[in-house]
Amino acid sequence: MKRISFVTSLIAAIAFCASALAQQYPAKAITMLVPYAAGGPTDTVARVIAQAMGKPLGQTIVVENRPSAGGILAPEQVKNSRPDGYTILIHHIGMATVPWLYRQLRFNPIEDFEPIGLINDVPMTLIARANFPAKDFKEFLGYIKANKDKVTYANAGIGAASHLCGMLFMSTIQTDFLTIPYKGTAPAMNDLLGGQVDFMCDQTTNTTSQIRSGKVKAYAVTSKKRVPSLQEIPTLDEQGLKGFEVGIWHGLYAPKGTPKPVIDKLVAALQESVKDDTVKKRFADLGAQTMPASQATPEALRKHLKAEIAKWGPLIKKAGVYAD
Ligand code: ASP
Repeated sequence: MKRISFVTSLIAAIAFCASALAQQYPAKAITMLVPYAAGGPTDTVARVIAQAMGKPLGQTIVVENRPSAGGILAPEQVKNSRPDGYTILIHHIGMATVPWLYRQLRFNPIEDFEPIGLINDVPMTLIARANFPAKDFKEFLGYIKANKDKVTYANAGIGAASHLCGMLFMSTIQTDFLTIPYKGTAPAMNDLLGGQVDFMCDQTTNTTSQIRSGKVKAYAVTSKKRVPSLQEIPTLDEQGLKGFEVGIWHGLYAPKGTPKPVIDKLVAALQESVKDDTVKKRFADLGAQTMPASQATPEALRKHLKAEIAKWGPLIKKAGVYAD
């Protein structure tokens, strides 16, 4: 009897401590892990949203990059970190594609995380080095097909958005070309600017300024409709690749088991941030669309993630993409 009451009091004491800690949250800086290199598109979104969320939370959110090909290292580290709200993850569509690509994946996107909410939608652009010998998409396609053994396609490794887009493009035009993996599209962009690689598909968050300054050539956007901030660039669909569409979305996650009151505080901060006009304008200038606050919720992210996992499986299989 005594033993039972001791156990009961211990459980009550632990619950009390957990709720007291959750109430004080956040009492120190929060770390947001980014699965790709600094200066790239995911990193850019992370820095905007981390700064905005820090204000309502009253604490700094420190952005740390854990670059790895395909972006699979950061989720694993967040999964294994203490579920106290001080380590969170930003990730993109890769959370939905990697389960189909890696047989040895050491995390489960649905089971191992508490979703916090969706952040934004970002289209991609098909770009090439500035002196690529094609003035429009028709010439570009002709050149790729005629030189498939010579041209090189940069990407951020199997599972990255840039990789997915390239694989779908390859299967759609029925032409295999050489792909060069990097730990993010920031280093890939450096090589594209330097002319060491020929072309790539990357989020507008990374390509807009390079396109505007003429440092890269843009042949298409990958969204269904043209992008308001890059109106002059046609879609792939309107240039003959009917139905081609790759849209990238970003979400925030905490490790499984993070207490609900902590998640609630992160959700409230995210919702405030996506409503912020400065955040919306910053993303819009980079071609991205901020999610409405109704989508910046755990339920919306969980639903979207599940739907995207279901959507990409057959497409990835059809495109014949795989990793070890
Ligand atoms: N988001 C990019 C990609 O998936 C990688 C990056 O952020 O650097 O290709």
